[in-house]
Amino acid sequence: MNDEVRNASGGERIYRGTPAAGGVVHARILVLRQAAPEVAQRTIPESQVESERIRFQDALIETRRQIQNIQHKVSEAMGAQEAGIFDAHLLTLEDPTLTQQVIRRMTNDRVNAEWAFQEVINQYAAALQAVEDEYLRERAADIRDIGHRVLNNLMGLAAEQGLARLTQPSIIVAHDLAPSTTAMLDRRVVLGFVTESGGVTSHTAIMARKLRIPAIVGLSEATRRVHSGDYALIDGHGGALIINPTDATLFQYGQIRERRAALDQRLLDLREQPAVTLDGHRIVLAANIDEPGDVAEARQVGAEGIGLFRTEYLFLKPGELPDEEAQTAAYRSAAEAAAPNAVVIRTMDLGGDKLFPGATPEANPFLGWRAIRISLVHRDWFAAQIRSVLKASAFGKVRLMYPMISSLEELVAANAILEECRQEFRKDGIPFDEELQVGMMIEVPGAALIANQLAPHVDFFSLGTNDLTQYTLAVDRMNERVASLHRFGHPAVLRLIALTVQAARAHGCRVSACGEAAGDPAFIPLFVGLGVDELSATASVLPEAKFLVRRLKYTEAVALAESALANGSAAEVERQSRTLAQSVAPELFSDR
Ligand code: PEP
Ligand code: MG
Repeated sequence: MNDEVRNASGGERIYRGTPAAGGVVHARILVLRQAAPEVAQRTIPESQVESERIRFQDALIETRRQIQNIQHKVSEAMGAQEAGIFDAHLLTLEDPTLTQQVIRRMTNDRVNAEWAFQEVINQYAAALQAVEDEYLRERAADIRDIGHRVLNNLMGLAAEQGLARLTQPSIIVAHDLAPSTTAMLDRRVVLGFVTESGGVTSHTAIMARKLRIPAIVGLSEATRRVHSGDYALIDGHGGALIINPTDATLFQYGQIRERRAALDQRLLDLREQPAVTLDGHRIVLAANIDEPGDVAEARQVGAEGIGLFRTEYLFLKPGELPDEEAQTAAYRSAAEAAAPNAVVIRTMDLGGDKLFPGATPEANPFLGWRAIRISLVHRDWFAAQIRSVLKASAFGKVRLMYPMISSLEELVAANAILEECRQEFRKDGIPFDEELQVGMMIEVPGAALIANQLAPHVDFFSLGTNDLTQYTLAVDRMNERVASLHRFGHPAVLRLIALTVQAARAHGCRVSACGEAAGDPAFIPLFVGLGVDELSATASVLPEAKFLVRRLKYTEAVALAESALANGSAAEVERQSRTLAQSVAPELFSDR
């Protein structure tokens, strides 16, 4: 990620990485050098191959025992969902191809078990590291983690030696913290951590958020730039690691921390209140989720249902693709947890940056075989997903949504498959919700332009502003070099939204928005002013969104939107929207 260094008076230095878990802490640093154990290559006589094989198998068994132990502890502390992360580790240990390759090397090359194992595991990790998909790349860290454990067991070394000598409250700086290590961190002594590797989707970052340990990931060369014993402050909200913070900085962050805690309390007090503007305009605030387990947090922050369930994540987990039964269980569980509120289940949006196992790489994956385009070819997958959604609809308020629709034909074809499934269910007497509402994402500019023709075929539209902005402005949402051009406030994007709202109103459809901008207080006045009925965002940002909506005047938001539509400059529109938001809710902007 982006990192920068600033030298200030008193030797204060600031490094920036990717914020992974919020919070402000300060303590001494402990740099963990978690390099793989040094492995020596030894030639073994043929007579020793069998005993090396047994030693290797024993190390695998011991590692499995340790991981199951960790899994058990994590499950007790944080629930089965989090503990499930270690299933992938266990599967790696049981992978017969891996074991056979190690044994073949020991037998053919006559090398010791440590050397043979290290060679094979490095090959696996390098292969994963080379793929373009960020999720898969981060699985390389899992493979290395398991590899280190097996090597430690083969060599009789204790794992987490660095952490074991930790007695003072510290900030850990490491190249990488394995998920299994992160899960075992003792919050009394590990106040925060920084890693060089990983992105916001890495398991390490996920663990940090679950444990609420302030953390920064992707801070390049952190272990080289800082030293054990340095005094440092982590700003987990902003992703800054500050070495030798001056008294002024400590004071400033102390105030930020106090303000944040007081604000969080005020936001929490609004949990049961509706999101309604000062002049009585009601907005529905819902949450985006990736798995049924996320519904609990959504409820905690007062979300009025789930506006986007990104079901593709079910297909991206290691192991078997979820069959109809597994999908039904997942959708039903989300529907029951969210009841009486609705869950909008989006059919799989694979492709783009979410490549399914075995997918052929494409030159322009975001313009390629993605989402509904895949579903309409793999009709059996699609029908199985629709049947699962229909079955779940008997247990709660479920809505179905199609991603990436770019033509009327696609929408009609998707609806035809849905209708076939409904007919089949009626014939077979399988219960489902006859009133099930159907919607589609508006995330391709072409779809917004023909929203009038699409609206008669759906009950609602959901604006996917991440993609709508990407495709309208020809800016790859994954490319850091052009990140500053990915501007939601661009009038071209707003005009497409206005067209969508107009078409929806003419046909009695509702309009929601579920891209990242929908949860950003600086942009919410634009959505409200443009006539969007519902905003759906990550659970953690919803309290701020509600706070802002309750301080806005609808009439002012409408005036802002009208002026934005007549504007030509994204920068100016964004400035105006932010100014309005900041003027009514300055508390939300003081630390940004
Ligand atoms: C979007 O494009 O804004 C959206 C919500 O879908 P995703 O981020 O999953 O592509
Ligand atoms: Mg999208």
